Amino acid sequence: MTGTEPLPSAAVLTIDLAAVVANHRRLAARAPTAQVAGVVKADAYGLGARQIAPALAAAGCRNFFVAQLGEALALKPHLPPDAALYVLNGVLAGEDQHYVAHAITPVLNDLGQVARWSEAARRIGRPLPAAVHFDTGMSRLGLTAAEAEALLADASRLDGLDLRLVMSHLVASEEAEHPHNALQFERFAVLRRRFPHVRASLANSSGVFLSNQCHYDLVRPGAATYGINPLPGQANPMQSVATLTARVLQVRTIDPPEAVGYGATHRVTGPTRIATIGCGYADGWLRSLSNRGNAILAGMRVPVVGRVSMDLITLDVTAVPTVRTGDQAVLMGADLPVDEVAERAGTNGYEVLTRLGPRLHRVYRAAS
Ligand SMILES: *Cc1c(COP(=O)(O)O)cnc(C)c1O
Repeated sequence: MTGTEPLPSAAVLTIDLAAVVANHRRLAARAPTAQVAGVVKADAYGLGARQIAPALAAAGCRNFFVAQLGEALALKPHLPPDAALYVLNGVLAGEDQHYVAHAITPVLNDLGQVARWSEAARRIGRPLPAAVHFDTGMSRLGLTAAEAEALLADASRLDGLDLRLVMSHLVASEEAEHPHNALQFERFAVLRRRFPHVRASLANSSGVFLSNQCHYDLVRPGAATYGINPLPGQANPMQSVATLTARVLQVRTIDPPEAVGYGATHRVTGPTRIATIGCGYADGWLRSLSNRGNAILAGMRVPVVGRVSMDLITLDVTAVPTVRTGDQAVLMGADLPVDEVAERAGTNGYEVLTRLGPRLHRVYRAAS
C-alpha cells in the first residue's frame, strides 16, 4: 500500500493496481494479435492516471490515450520515453507547439486538424507523428465519409505527417447483435485497406470481446481495465479495481412516525436502526442512489434509506444488530460491483468512476 494513513473520518477509495494489470493482461490474452493500449483519459476514469499509467507501462503497455492536451501534458513526465501518448480530441488552433515540444501525438479528427498538423511539420521542417480518426458511425469526432474521400483523393494533405495509426470508434460494441457493429466493421475495413502500411485500431473494451475482426493492431480498452463489465448481462471477466469504504458515524434506533433524511422521503413503519455513513454526493456517491443504493456492513447487504446528502448516507441496519460507530461500510467493491452501483443510480459504470470526488482518501495497492 502507498499513501498516508487515512483519518478515521475520511471515506477511502482503494485502487488495486495489481487488478488493473491483471485486467490489462486478460485483455491482451483475448486479443493476441493486437497490442493493448491504456486509455487513461479523465484521470484514468477517475482512478488516477499518474498511478495507473506507470503500472500499465511497467506491464509493457506502450500506447496511451487521453482526451485533452492538458491531460497529456500532465501525464507525459510519468510515462517511459518510448511510450506513445495520443490525444483523442486532436490538435486545436494554438496548440501545435505544445504537441511538438512534448512529443505528444494528436488524433486528427477533421481536415482542418490534418492541415494544421501538416503545416506545423512544414514549418519546423521535420515529420510529425499523427493518428487519423475516421468516423464510421458515431457522428461525433473523426473525418466524415466526405472528408475521408477528400483525403484519399489528395495524398499531399498528409505531407510531413508520420502516420502512425488509423482508427475509428465503435458505438454499440457492448450489444453483440447490434447491426451498427457490422456496418462499422465494413466501413473501417474499406478505409483501412487504403492505408495498408499503417497500424489500425477499432476496438474499445467491449470490442475486444466482440470479434477478432475488430482487433487489428491495437485495441483501446478503458472501462474493462478498470473493472467495468465489458459484457453486460454476462459474468464479468474483469477483476474489481476500485473499492469505496466509509465509516459509520452514528447508529440510532427510531420509531414511527420518524422519517430519515432531507425531504423526509423515507418513513419508518416500525422500530428501525439507522446507521449514518461519512460519504455523500460531494464524494461522488450519486444522489440518484437515494432510497435505491446498497452498502455492505459486517458482510451483510443493507439498503440506503432517505436521500443521499452532501456528506452523509443513511442505511437501514435493523438486520445487522452488531453495527457500531466506527465500523467500515463498503459502498462499492468486488461484492458490490461498480456496474451494480451504476444500475441502481440509473447511469453507467463510467460515470460512477469518473464522479469519484477529490475529497476521497485514495490508497493504491501496488501491482507487485
Ligand atoms: C473512451 C474511448 C475508448 C475506451 O472506451 P471503453 O469503452 O472505456 O473501453 C476508446 N476509444 C475512444 C476513441 C474513446 O473515446
